[in-house]
Amino acid sequence: MEYKVTLIPGDGIGPEIIGEAKKVLETVGEQYGHVFNFTEVLMGGASIDAYGEPLTAETLETAKNSDAVLLGAVGGDVGKTSWYSLPPEKRPEAGLLGIRKGLELFANVRPALLFDELKGACPLKDEISKGGFDFVVMRELTGGLYFGDRYTKEVNGLMTAVDTLTYNEDEIRRIAKWGFEFAMKRRKKVTSVDKANVLDSSRLWRKVVAEVAKDYPEVTLENMLVDNCAMQLVKDPSQFDVILTENMFGDILSDEASMVTGSIGMLPSASLGKTKLGLYEPSHGSAPDIAGQDKANPIATILSAGMMLRYSFDLTKEADAIDAAVKKVLESGYRTGDIYSEGKTLVGTKKMGELICDAIKGLK
Ligand code: NAD
Repeated sequence: MEYKVTLIPGDGIGPEIIGEAKKVLETVGEQYGHVFNFTEVLMGGASIDAYGEPLTAETLETAKNSDAVLLGAVGGDVGKTSWYSLPPEKRPEAGLLGIRKGLELFANVRPALLFDELKGACPLKDEISKGGFDFVVMRELTGGLYFGDRYTKEVNGLMTAVDTLTYNEDEIRRIAKWGFEFAMKRRKKVTSVDKANVLDSSRLWRKVVAEVAKDYPEVTLENMLVDNCAMQLVKDPSQFDVILTENMFGDILSDEASMVTGSIGMLPSASLGKTKLGLYEPSHGSAPDIAGQDKANPIATILSAGMMLRYSFDLTKEADAIDAAVKKVLESGYRTGDIYSEGKTLVGTKKMGELICDAIKGLK
């Protein structure tokens, strides 16, 4: 098959990690008989430097006309580059919000997987982490508190700030469907997280999720209050398969989930919408402190490319091959600086990419 992939290297370590992910996709293509046609475009600071804005209409159009988008990271050293003297809507990170909105991506998926080989990096006690864990946080991305009306004004002589949390049943239903679809491809459990003991929006959330659950009888649905979920994530993360939640709860819980894995350079993510066209990117930022030094860990981006194969192209065995190759390279003791520990072999960005390509070839 042939697939059109928009590549957005972005800023900082972006071009280095996207370069390695591209090599991995080309290797998968050679080994499994697919052609990935790449179109590279600018976004973020690189686009500001070239065109004066973080996301041009042409970049968005290219993304819309492709089958999937693979993004490195955008942004730079806040305070050190002129990008941050621009108004907020002109800064590098505005490109991210613009492309997610432009592609109508309403579901953000962040896996939290504890690699056996990296258990030492997990900040949880051995007795909690020893069995490992592997779950995803499915976060609603375009509704709720971050998108509701807000204002600050004087009321009865006191400055008063108001943020509005709104969800309608359609917004809840479409993200819930993604949650159950993911669970069907995993261990068939959804934990829907809300604050239904207090919030009306959560009560509607719980009701609609229960309705959607009826279409997925094989999936076990559990409801959990967000405060309890925050505790359970550090007490026993192995209980989770798919955590399904609204925008702000998901924002906070997905960061907590990535912390418990202990290795931000390893974590991929996907943003999905109504169609198969998704945006895939590592969970980390542009790491300006190590940019251009061949020090960045490309694994989060390579695993993001794997998610792209799995969820946008339905290429399950090819995605499995990427996951298995990463595991094999880690088992063989190779580490970039961020996940290095004594006795292991320290490698740079390029070498890590090459090792993963070799491992994919070895799997065939
Ligand atoms: P960051 O994730 O870029 O870096 C945090 C720390 O983790 C740094 O020490 C960095 O060196 C390290 N790190 C991150 N990714 C790594 C990798 N792949 N390999 C090895 N080490 C890695 O977060 P930050 O420093 O808060 O942000 C830097 C810039 O990135 C800011 O401009 C921020 O706005 C932007 N940002 C962009 C995105 C995105 O593009 N989606 C996400 C988060 C932050």
